[in-house]
Amino acid sequence: MSDVTVKTRFAPSPTGALHIGNLRTALFNALLARGHGGRFVLRIEDTDRERCSPEATQALMGNLRWLGLDWDEGPEAGGPAPPYHQYERSAIYDAYYARLEAEGYAYPCFCSERELEMARRAQRAAGQPPRYPGTCARLSAEEVARKRAEGLQPALRFRVPPGEEIRFHDRVHGEQRFRTDDLGDFIIRRADGTAAYLFTNAVDDALMGITDVLRGDDHLTNTPRQLLILRALGLPAPRYGHMGLITGDDGAPLSKRNGSRSVDDLEEAGYLPEAILNYLARVGHTYDTDAPLDLDGLAQGFDPARISPSPSRFDPDHLRHWQDEAVQAATAERLRLWLAMDALVPPGYVPELINAVRGNIRFPADGREWAKRVFGPPPALDADAEAAIEGAGAAFFETAVAVAEEGYNRFRGLTEALRERTGVKGKRLFMPLRAALTGRCSGPELQPVVDLMGGERVKARLHRAAALAAERSAQEG
Ligand code: GLU
Repeated sequence: MSDVTVKTRFAPSPTGALHIGNLRTALFNALLARGHGGRFVLRIEDTDRERCSPEATQALMGNLRWLGLDWDEGPEAGGPAPPYHQYERSAIYDAYYARLEAEGYAYPCFCSERELEMARRAQRAAGQPPRYPGTCARLSAEEVARKRAEGLQPALRFRVPPGEEIRFHDRVHGEQRFRTDDLGDFIIRRADGTAAYLFTNAVDDALMGITDVLRGDDHLTNTPRQLLILRALGLPAPRYGHMGLITGDDGAPLSKRNGSRSVDDLEEAGYLPEAILNYLARVGHTYDTDAPLDLDGLAQGFDPARISPSPSRFDPDHLRHWQDEAVQAATAERLRLWLAMDALVPPGYVPELINAVRGNIRFPADGREWAKRVFGPPPALDADAEAAIEGAGAAFFETAVAVAEEGYNRFRGLTEALRERTGVKGKRLFMPLRAALTGRCSGPELQPVVDLMGGERVKARLHRAAALAAERSAQEG
């Protein structure tokens, strides 16, 4: 379905590393646009110069690209409503501030933080919700001029109309109603001249033609204020959907302490982009299928009506599950690049090794470990493996050595001859062999792995096992 009337955005404030909560917001908006053949905009909300940094912006853009969430309009991509860094848009905001002030929708506010705090305390004491008491709303032009002449720098406050109800349909939470009497006049430009988020965010959504906003429901109460700003300026409002936040395993908002991970952390740990995307697309949103999907598949099945209004817990087990799915679904070439183990494997054997051990790889280190177990010197033996070798006994391994030395004929030949000569079969045959050859009692299917090892390595490992078993029985005897 092509519907270019859908335009979504991701509007991060780059104050630090991109974490999974914000990444999910980016993903949902990207999927909504993609599923409708629409456009996805990246807008950097960096008006707070102290907290935002160019390095964080660059890192965030790198993260989005690594995940395949490229934007159609935004920094470096360009588009019809530049610039896409809010820091560079102050002239645009100034024009709208001037209009709001000239038309009486906003007024300068000279109240100090101390005065505001005192007002809030008095309201709380009287059992009222804290709200701007309107001190500066009624200043005459002369009073304003006099205060300015004194050198006082005012903030700019939006004048909320009394006695109204603001209604809107939220795509996640349904019908919303807010009484303007509960809102209080709010700041749209701080006294130091910096633009407030509520204002720039709403104005830019309109100027950039954003039709749909999906964001965390911590922004739900901002929406009536933003709708008032847009109405006063005669600008169109997007459709809003506010999703339940992601919480940590303790139910508290996601933070470093309860499991939040940055995209950088996940990349460094070896997670594949498709694992992260398949996981996050299902946090607080449901699909009909449990099969891994690519970005197009995720976009086709994405529906704001399926977003949960309740919080969802971050679940590292689910993330690991999607990692396993992604590894199983990846092409051998994709895994070859990701595993970076060419140096550990004889030339030409990487694809076969990947096929043999794929089911036992979650992260690149696992692949490299299997490469060493198969092609390196005899691997260290786990305690379990030692016990299995000891349990099978010296005679078993001496026979295995004899069979291999007489004419090694790959895994099948070895195991068939060994079964005939010892009468041992099934698990009692395969487990000691697995232990001796791979150093562990569990792992991938044995035959392909052993055939990759080749006769010389197999013999060396069987000799070692025979020696170990003999030593142990001598100790006991
Ligand atoms: N810059 C805001 C944030 O990062 C954007 C909120 C929104 O999506 O409207 O929270």
